[in-house]
Amino acid sequence: MARVLVQCPVRERPAPTGYWMNPTQFAAAGARYAFRCAACGEIHQWMREDAWLEGTVPPNKVPSVKAADPVAGPAE
Ligand SMILES: [Zn+2]
Repeated sequence: MARVLVQCPVRERPAPTGYWMNPTQFAAAGARYAFRCAACGEIHQWMREDAWLEGTVPPNKVPSVKAADPVAGPAE
């Protein structure tokens, strides 16, 4: 099990989501999750494509995690 991290769009640094997953669980994570960010105190939403497991390489893209963005992305 590893911590699921996302890039905090406010502090622009990795922040733990509070979720712990193994790679199999992470690969199956298709929903949209929300958490209170330990880095900035805001609620962020994230999807698997925004996140990475601690100890693995972060996704090389601009993070799409934004506060209260209701627009649904492409479903997996
Ligand atoms: Zn944050």
